[in-house]
Amino acid sequence: QAKLDGINQIVFSSDKLKSSTMNQVQISEALYQANLDSEFHVVYQPQIELKTNQIVGVEALIRWNHPQMGMISPGVFIDIAEKNGFIVPLGKWILEKACWEVQMLSDSIGRPLKLAVNVSFIQIRQDGFVEEVLQILKKIGFQPDRLEIELTERSLFENRPEDLAKIDALRTKGIRIAIDDFGTGYSSFGILAKVQVDKIKVPRDFIENVDSNQNSQRIVTTIASMADRFQLTCLAEGIERLEESNFLHQLICQEVQGYYYAKPAVINQVEKWLSNPREKIISTISSEAADP
Ligand code: C2E
Ligand code: MG
Ligand code: MG
Ligand code: MG
Repeated sequence: QAKLDGINQIVFSSDKLKSSTMNQVQISEALYQANLDSEFHVVYQPQIELKTNQIVGVEALIRWNHPQMGMISPGVFIDIAEKNGFIVPLGKWILEKACWEVQMLSDSIGRPLKLAVNVSFIQIRQDGFVEEVLQILKKIGFQPDRLEIELTERSLFENRPEDLAKIDALRTKGIRIAIDDFGTGYSSFGILAKVQVDKIKVPRDFIENVDSNQNSQRIVTTIASMADRFQLTCLAEGIERLEESNFLHQLICQEVQGYYYAKPAVINQVEKWLSNPREKIISTISSEAADP
């Protein structure tokens, strides 16, 4: 019996492996054939200042609705796009689209909104990346100090001088840099020693159940006070419950993001949230159902 179970398991896992490899190849090809404007769109998750409970910015998150395969999550296809190089044209498209939509929204509400965009290390390593970003901002009339580029530790851990120089160059132009998923990589402190950034984002891994898990409390408290020492803005991501939010109020943590406050949504939905009084922000927020 045990042996049969074993065999079943092997068969099952190799099937799974095969199908996931096939999926990767399929997805890789589908990316190359994708029509950016019809298959992709950007959703925006509000970033809220804890002190005032107001939306101060949004994070752009890419969505892909493939005509046959349906919705494919960025958690799945970004890795593949990094491997096959498609992230380069896709990343440029996202940056342009997001700056454009957020600029239109800012103009329409008469208040400049900040925009955070996730950028892959593959994009940064392209020749002329900094110039390309500046060109897009100029074309759209988007002030550089309203743009924040989110990088992961993974993208910086090699500490390549050329990458770090590009970060400095972006910052010189006023663009802000956030370290995404801080503490989940191999070199959180190494990065802070090598390059000046503006913000760190505490990932959901540490926020989940932070109200009841003592080790999470220790980690989050430590990261928040470290951010304060480095004079960086601290943003906690992935807040789903009031209790998690309450815990953060006790710390020096300036901004929050999470389903509890708002799920990522299309730009028109963000506009509706912004035109509501601030106490309504939490209660009106539902889901990505507003997606086309
Ligand atoms: P990330 O940049 O750390 O983004 C946060 C992810 O957590 C997003 O998932 C967001 O929808 C989700 N999230 C936000 N609040 C909550 C919450 O309260 N609970 C839970 N469980 N999840 C929450 P998403 O959109 O699926 O993106 C996953 C990852 O894919 C992102 O992680 C980012 O690394 C990457 N990604 C997404 N969009 C882009 C993009 O435009 N460019 C690049 N290079 N990467 C992207
Ligand atoms: Mg991010
Ligand atoms: Mg993150
Ligand atoms: Mg991430």
